[in-house]
Amino acid sequence: MKEKYSTATVIKRVLAENAREYAGRYLLAVACLATLSLSTAFTAWIMKWVVNGAFVDRRPDLVWATCIAIFFAFFLRGLANYGQAVILSKISNNISARYQMLAYSHLMSCSVEYFNQIRSGQIVSRINYSILGVRNIMNIAVTSSVRDILTFLSLIGVMFLQEPLLTLSVFIGSPPLIFGLRYLSKRIRSATRDAVQTGGHIFSAMQETMQGISVVKAFTMENALEKKVGDLIETAERRNNRIVRISERTAPLIEIFAGLVVASIVAFAAYRSIYYDVPPGGFMSFLTALLLAYDPAKRIARLPTQLQNAVTSAEMIYEFLDMEPRQLDKPEAKPLIVTQGQIEFRNVTFGYGNDKVLRDINFIAEGGKATALIGPSGAGKSTIITLIPRFFDPEAGCILIDGQDIAGVTKQSLREQLAYVSQQAYMFAGTIRDNIRYGRPEATDAEVEQAARLAFAHDFILAQSEGYETQVGENGVTLSGGQRQRLSIARALVRNAPILLLDEATSALDSESEASVQRALDHVMIGRTVIVIAHRLSTIRSADKIIVVQQGRVLQVGNHESLSKEEDGLYARLQNIGKEAV
Ligand code: ADP
Repeated sequence: MKEKYSTATVIKRVLAENAREYAGRYLLAVACLATLSLSTAFTAWIMKWVVNGAFVDRRPDLVWATCIAIFFAFFLRGLANYGQAVILSKISNNISARYQMLAYSHLMSCSVEYFNQIRSGQIVSRINYSILGVRNIMNIAVTSSVRDILTFLSLIGVMFLQEPLLTLSVFIGSPPLIFGLRYLSKRIRSATRDAVQTGGHIFSAMQETMQGISVVKAFTMENALEKKVGDLIETAERRNNRIVRISERTAPLIEIFAGLVVASIVAFAAYRSIYYDVPPGGFMSFLTALLLAYDPAKRIARLPTQLQNAVTSAEMIYEFLDMEPRQLDKPEAKPLIVTQGQIEFRNVTFGYGNDKVLRDINFIAEGGKATALIGPSGAGKSTIITLIPRFFDPEAGCILIDGQDIAGVTKQSLREQLAYVSQQAYMFAGTIRDNIRYGRPEATDAEVEQAARLAFAHDFILAQSEGYETQVGENGVTLSGGQRQRLSIARALVRNAPILLLDEATSALDSESEASVQRALDHVMIGRTVIVIAHRLSTIRSADKIIVVQQGRVLQVGNHESLSKEEDGLYARLQNIGKEAV
């Protein structure tokens, strides 16, 4: 795993995936960056003529020429700077957009099993962070390497051209400074890592508190949490102070060194000028180049660290994209053809991990009829339902729809024949109309409204401020539990699929909502094969078939009359508990 994502392979892959596509634009950007570097070097170089021509030789003709040249150099710099910034930002934005799209499509193709194993918040932040990494690799590879290295080299060139001896002596003097800075930057890096970690802890502690605020308040955890987070905040403060102390040490170190260098070369140049009458232009040019080279040199020194950081975060997107979505259609998969809509579980065994949740399940849900799954909580009822759209595949046995094994049909065709109403009626950000239409994107407005009427949702939808165009989901209006359920029933009605999977809500609704939800369900169940996880007595009684599940096994099969007669059966016992509760 590690080898697959070594620094070199990640960089190579980023370049391979992006360099060719953007080659033309990068070339243009590089041309701009080269112009930028050369014009910087030119401004240093021309100092010689400024000083010697204007101040030593006092030649007015040279003054004009140099001033015009300086103006043009700056003019070019401005243009080149603008050009590179616009081109590179556009490329960066395009890279982000492409990888976001890639990541989103990949997410869609992942199996439900995968989402079962990960924390969704984590994956989203990792993807975003990682895309930033890819962007940075491309930027660092082009901007820093071309601009800084070229600027640095051309400035060194100017220095050598003007003052070869001085340049050599500066180079000989620099290694101790470089070592000093290296040592400090290592210490800063480890201190920064600590600080970032503590920052992350604080952030997640705050997030947790917000998400669980009702628990925090109900259990009066305020003081304990405040103490815990307070300690973290204090640690973070101490660590940040440590970073400042270390990093600010570089400044005096550099100042002292720079002072020494500048003072000695000024002394050398001044003596040379006084005793040997050497004009000062060359020296001024050299000094300008030396000062200008400082910034790019600093950035070049930081290049390896920056690149390493970018690679580390870019790695994650590749780890993610390379992960096989675990559930692919078989190559010979055919579309599912539904005639009766009969569903059969044949010796189905399944577990999420090692523990078996379903053991040897056998039953038939007749086409066009309602089959109710009942049993204590944790018995495996929801699991049975999730196997039908193939969110998970059984470990043993098979599930047949009208005689076709669903493992051998395309997932798309299978899911097109199913409508699912879950306990938690999930609303996506968008309008009420959009949310119903997710059931079948090509449904007309009239069909959407007809479904809403059948689901007893039409009236309350019209009562909203903007009717069907009212925003729901995140940042939208708040709907009651019963209203959301009726919308999700409308969504299932619009889908008009022959098979309906229904997880009846256990959460208490007020009796009026309960009645409307029940009537809506009655509508949606007509003429379809329904498998319902039933909690309400009325649903159980009216079901054509009842399957009693306990600890992952089918205990009893029958209907209300027949099962009530089996006096020792779980069904009768559950009924009695129900009666006592009432
Ligand atoms: P029921 O719907 O009858 O209450 P479930 O099918 O939800 O029962 O759960 C059956 C068993 O499977 C339980 O022990 C539950 O903890 C486990 N289980 C349910 N969903 C998952 C899941 N996504 N991942 C791991 N275990 C699960």
